Amino acid sequence: MLPSEEPGFKVESAPEAAAAKAVRARTIFRLTVSFMLLVVFAFMAVEGWREWRDYRAAFASAHDSVTNLARATAQHAEDAIRQVDVLTTALSERVEGDGLENIDVPRIHKLLIEQSKIMPQLHGLFIYGADGHWIVTDKEITPDTANNADRDYFKYHRTHEDRHVRIGDVVKSRSTDDLIIPISRRLNNKDGSFAGVLLGTLKVSYFMDYYGDFKIDDKGALVLALRNGTILVRRPFMASVVGKSLANSEIFQRYLPHANEGVAEVRAVIDDTDRLYGYRALTTYPLVVQAGLSRESITAPWRRDLLKTGFVLVFLIAVLAVFGLIVLSQLRQRMVMERQLRRVHQAMRDMALTDSLTGLGNRRRLDTALVDEIRLARRQGSSLAVVMLDVDYFKRYNDRYGHAAGDDCLSAVGGAIQRAVKRPGDLAVRYGGEEFTVLLPNTNTAGAKQVVEDILDAIRALNIEHAESALGKVTASAGIAVSRPSIEDVTPAALLKLADAQLYLAKQQGRNRWCCADGPTQQAIIPPL
Ligand code: GH3
Ligand code: MG
Ligand code: MG
Repeated sequence: MLPSEEPGFKVESAPEAAAAKAVRARTIFRLTVSFMLLVVFAFMAVEGWREWRDYRAAFASAHDSVTNLARATAQHAEDAIRQVDVLTTALSERVEGDGLENIDVPRIHKLLIEQSKIMPQLHGLFIYGADGHWIVTDKEITPDTANNADRDYFKYHRTHEDRHVRIGDVVKSRSTDDLIIPISRRLNNKDGSFAGVLLGTLKVSYFMDYYGDFKIDDKGALVLALRNGTILVRRPFMASVVGKSLANSEIFQRYLPHANEGVAEVRAVIDDTDRLYGYRALTTYPLVVQAGLSRESITAPWRRDLLKTGFVLVFLIAVLAVFGLIVLSQLRQRMVMERQLRRVHQAMRDMALTDSLTGLGNRRRLDTALVDEIRLARRQGSSLAVVMLDVDYFKRYNDRYGHAAGDDCLSAVGGAIQRAVKRPGDLAVRYGGEEFTVLLPNTNTAGAKQVVEDILDAIRALNIEHAESALGKVTASAGIAVSRPSIEDVTPAALLKLADAQLYLAKQQGRNRWCCADGPTQQAIIPPL
């Protein structure tokens, strides 16, 4: 009955290692998912920022374009009108100096022809008398009956004494049917009374040709208007739009009252298109130009780029997701396999540590537990009790009732021991044959004796017939050893040996009883039968 010195089955670190592995696998899984999400978010953040920057850049460049366009068209309009202004100033001085009734018509006619030849914007030059009839023009034929007294500019000059050049609304030429912009000036007699009107007409087509040369998108717009909002020229050209008023448009209402030039993003009243407009009011003449690029065309390259980048991004994310899913599924498989392995390992460990007949722990289990409990008791300063139990006259039982009945008996005894041992830390094992060991951590001598009494009572209470025993039923004997590892230098083997010695004593004393080595003196206490 001596305990073996053979080292215990080394499995104590396996569960910790397996648990650590599981935690590591879970951490890797989480890290992989977090990393993938981080990469996707980083991609999206960088692309989002890039797109936002390109969007802003597209508008910044459009801002510059419309500003330059507005400046160029304004300059062009100013130059075209200034030439007519200068010409008509010189002509009016000459005509007024001679007196309208005294002018040399053939010479002036020739002069007008020469002037109109060198000014491509000019449609015609006309001098009207006080009643509106044509006195001289740059045309070859001057119809006798022609009269322009009904024209707006004529009426205006007749009733207004100012000598400035006046830019009128677009009208259709009576001589050529072309659309023209009248630039007119009042002619006075020497006494300051109304003598007639000097008129230079500009071809709308001259402006259209110039505007047509600019490379702007189909939905872009270039507009020349009077300061009161009346449209003179517009690209794209629509006959119905000429003469319409922009007075209620946002630029005329909100922007021009505060600044003569600027850029505004507004919706056009003419065609309901959103545009970025550069606008400019001329300071020399009552004219306004607007150059607009449609929001659609400004953002078109950006949108194309966004679409391409979007496709690439979606593709990359999809590849990353597929790759990530593969990695994750492999990780998951590994985790499942490891879990299964841990289960198998645990099952094997349980099998290796369990006695198959009684279902109690076996000797290996005891060896491991005993080492741990001695260490724990030493650390905590608590006492530890070890009990060796042995079924009395079991050889005879076997001989009388057979080996199979012997097995049943051992199984029943094991069950009785397990039921009598109640605290969770207590451990009952089958040491071997018909011997059992009970480990009672944190238990003093009195406690150990009580537990052993309970065990022996429980075995007796099984009432298993044993005709070869003096009591007529199966009983057992026990040896108790109690130790305080913190004050005594004790080993597992020594403790088992001590309990075994007390068991031997109990057998010697007549069986069906327990003996206890009580403290360091190892005084055996034999309870009465
Ligand atoms: P004592 O009262 O001194 O303990 O006498 P005993 O006959 O019980 O002691 P002994 O050591 O002489 O005999 C033990 C017997 O237990 C020997 C063996 O036949 C029997 N035995 C050991 N293991 C088993 C087992 O697994 N099954 C059965 N049925 N019998 C076993
Ligand atoms: Mg025995
Ligand atoms: Mg025995």
